[in-house]
Amino acid sequence: MDCLREIQGKQAHDPIFIEKMNTSASWRCICVPGPLIVGAGPSGLATAACLKEKGVPSVVLERSNCIASLWQLKTYDRLRLHLPKQFCELPLMGFPTDFPTYPIKQQFVDYLEAYAREFDIKPRFNETVSQAEYDATLGFWRVKSVGVNGKGTEYVCRWLVVATGENAEAVMPEMEGMGEFGGDIRHTSLYKSGEEFRGKRVLVVGCGNSGMEVCLDLCNHNAKPSLVVRDTVHVLPREMLGRSTFGLSMWLLKWLPIRFVDRLLLIVTWLMLGDTARIGLDRPRLGPLELKNLSGKTPVLDVGTLANIKSGDIKVCPSIKRLKRHAVEFVNGKTENFGAIILATGYKSNVPSWLKEREMFSEKDGYPRRPFPNGWKGESGLYAVGFTKRGLLGTSMDARRIAEDIERCWKHEAKHRMAFTRSLLQQPSSDSSS
Ligand SMILES: Cc1cc2nc3c(=O)[nH]c(=O)nc-3n(C[C@H](O)[C@H](O)[C@H](O)COP(=O)(O)OP(=O)(O)OC[C@H]3O[C@@H](n4cnc5c(N)ncnc54)[C@H](O)[C@@H]3O)c2cc1C
Repeated sequence: MDCLREIQGKQAHDPIFIEKMNTSASWRCICVPGPLIVGAGPSGLATAACLKEKGVPSVVLERSNCIASLWQLKTYDRLRLHLPKQFCELPLMGFPTDFPTYPIKQQFVDYLEAYAREFDIKPRFNETVSQAEYDATLGFWRVKSVGVNGKGTEYVCRWLVVATGENAEAVMPEMEGMGEFGGDIRHTSLYKSGEEFRGKRVLVVGCGNSGMEVCLDLCNHNAKPSLVVRDTVHVLPREMLGRSTFGLSMWLLKWLPIRFVDRLLLIVTWLMLGDTARIGLDRPRLGPLELKNLSGKTPVLDVGTLANIKSGDIKVCPSIKRLKRHAVEFVNGKTENFGAIILATGYKSNVPSWLKEREMFSEKDGYPRRPFPNGWKGESGLYAVGFTKRGLLGTSMDARRIAEDIERCWKHEAKHRMAFTRSLLQQPSSDSSS
């Protein structure tokens, strides 16, 4: 009975209310009465905040030692939000009014830190979730995490929110001769600034937003970048007709069909940037918005790279055939010397590596199988936030929906929980005097 009183007391203040050491002491078990959120990036924080606002306590597990580790640890110095700030706000708290339209990385991190403080979100850092499985007999999720010291913890919870992100692991392509190349090969997640590449010939592989921006950064630091373009790509100006291209597109889509908006965007782009195919950047057959909707492929928003390609400061190259000691051979038969290679080859979800569940998440790409806007909810109390391919706007929508859904169950179950606990506490018990 003392134990129950203790649990009830703890439950009132603490989302983690049973902590039991395993006899072997290398594993411990923690019961979480509310939802367990995996990942303390913007998505995890947004969900925890929305839950908190509804009176539902949650526990957040994070593998690194800080919130928003993607932004704090894996992005380059010159990074700003790609989209205007009004499209990147998390629920319940806006950006400070004195922030610029496109906040710099540190401002975004400051905002997230303030957000976590505002909603009193204190993630359990250095806890990497290695496995999560639904125990149908118990009716609970069993989530195993490993700390930096190798110590394991098993969390048992009714609701599991996957917030590990679309960018959990760097994608490293296999290239012939990779082991042979004598210079530095690194993914953009490890690139900070062009400063260390000053005067060097650098090959950037991949022409998404990151690859384009890294090229520009290298130019600004007097390095000599070349850009490998293997695929077609839509490059649009970041602003057109006095508005952000993204904002304008969202506004036009309220009234016009997507294909019409795409055509309009491409005409204005052509007037502003000219024919990008002439500088080696062929456009896909589908328009930028339709392509984004169908494949999730984001158009590049130009922040100055194109001018450097036109001036010849950035050279466009075809696909790589193989790497040599200090050179790269391309599929067109040409070979050029390079001192370093930056892989702007993107990221992938890591969900299949730890979540033992096949219905909601695809094993192939680690995204929810059901497309936006229906991918946020699975069976048995499983949720996904931030896998919409729609950036922070998608995150906010998911977080609100998840919190509303869990709140309903939480309130319903709380009545039963309280009644059950009260009945146990009121029962005359033979051991109550002991
Ligand atoms: C360079 C760059 C610029 C971007 N700019 C914009 C922009 O301007 N606007 C926009 O809307 N979107 C932008 N995005 C998209 C970006 O994905 C979101 O901004 C945002 O970071 C997504 O948040 P998230 O919480 O879903 O994922 P993340 O920020 O990746 O956070 C996931 C967290 O989960 C943790 N984690 C992963 N696996 C585990 C595990 N097994 N156990 C415990 N913790 C784990 C990670 O350490 C990480 O902290 C950008 C992305 C990049 C890479």
